[in-house]
Amino acid sequence: MPRPIQVTVHPEALRANLARLRAETPDARVWGVVKANAYGHGIERALEGLRGVDGFALLDLDEASRLRALDWRGPLLLLEGAFETRDLELCSRLGLWHVVHCEEQIDMLALHKTHTPHRVFLKMNSGMNRLGLRPAAYRNAWARLNALPQVEEITHMTHFSDADGPLGVAHQMRVFDAATRDLPGERSLSNSAAILRHAAAPDLPHLAADWVRPGVAIYGSSPDFPAHDIAHWGLMPAMTLASRVIGVQALQAGDTVGYGSTFSAPGAMRIGIVACGYADGYPRQCPTGTPVLVQGRRTRTLGRVSMDMIAVDLTALPEAGFGSEVTLWGRAANGQVLSIDEVAHAGGTVGYELMCAVAPRVPVQVDPAA
Ligand SMILES: *Cc1c(COP(=O)(O)O)cnc(C)c1O
Repeated sequence: MPRPIQVTVHPEALRANLARLRAETPDARVWGVVKANAYGHGIERALEGLRGVDGFALLDLDEASRLRALDWRGPLLLLEGAFETRDLELCSRLGLWHVVHCEEQIDMLALHKTHTPHRVFLKMNSGMNRLGLRPAAYRNAWARLNALPQVEEITHMTHFSDADGPLGVAHQMRVFDAATRDLPGERSLSNSAAILRHAAAPDLPHLAADWVRPGVAIYGSSPDFPAHDIAHWGLMPAMTLASRVIGVQALQAGDTVGYGSTFSAPGAMRIGIVACGYADGYPRQCPTGTPVLVQGRRTRTLGRVSMDMIAVDLTALPEAGFGSEVTLWGRAANGQVLSIDEVAHAGGTVGYELMCAVAPRVPVQVDPAA
């Protein structure tokens, strides 16, 4: 019998979350963002639930090749574009669209020999100061690209730094609109947080634009937790991390739990030891009190997370014991949901990081019920 830990990917949740996002921006086409191996879900496993997208956006050329090998004939967009000249050959061969975010990438494109001109997304740095051309340099870059025989079509693009927070997106949209106003071409601006929080705002009518780029919300994580949770946004977890109780201890008052003895029992308690630790991708930073489901009922972790194990409180769950189902995040057999965002928040991080960091040793299955 293998160690009982397991990730399950839920295609029906991916489909439902996608439909939810589409309803928010009904006139925009949707890039399903599948970078980082579909946010840790596995591109091959996620594909089934994401066939309803208009294209896939990612950054790893190998992941793009895998999608083509899986017979995805639709658009693929490289979000960081080419890293070196020969990447453009793969773009020509596989028909990849790619971001152009700097002058060096325009230089590479100008030297590239291709029979089929490329579709490029010209990225503006409208304030995030990560990738992109500054507004003052943008129009010149657009004119350079527009003059290249290697380029067929140019879409305008930018990325928001604060779509999930109080600063919002309006200041970056003003910069973007001012610099692109009279240029032809489609536009793409919004990530998950912008779609959910701002697309319906009457003062931001072009936010959805021609293409939206949701990532984390597709996978059933709220981009602005704890301000709003997945129930608020109508999203469902696309990933469940589950394991089982592999041992039980009865504690007396004063007994401690785990390395460092950070938890001390205030009275008699029953605890379960679960086969899941930080070597599986469960964050070691999660303190005593992090929520967890045992047999679909909410309880809490106790003490430090070890490499391969974690302790949970069974005191109020007398029917739970050796072999009981434990849901670290996602959906329990009885339908109860524990969002990845709650666990991430307890560990001082975000759902994005946990879903991307599930360790390779954890087996992954696609939900057979979907
Ligand atoms: C990752 C990424 C997205 C998706 O962001 P989410 O917050 O996961 O929705 C969109 N656009 C770009 C450029 C990205 O890098």
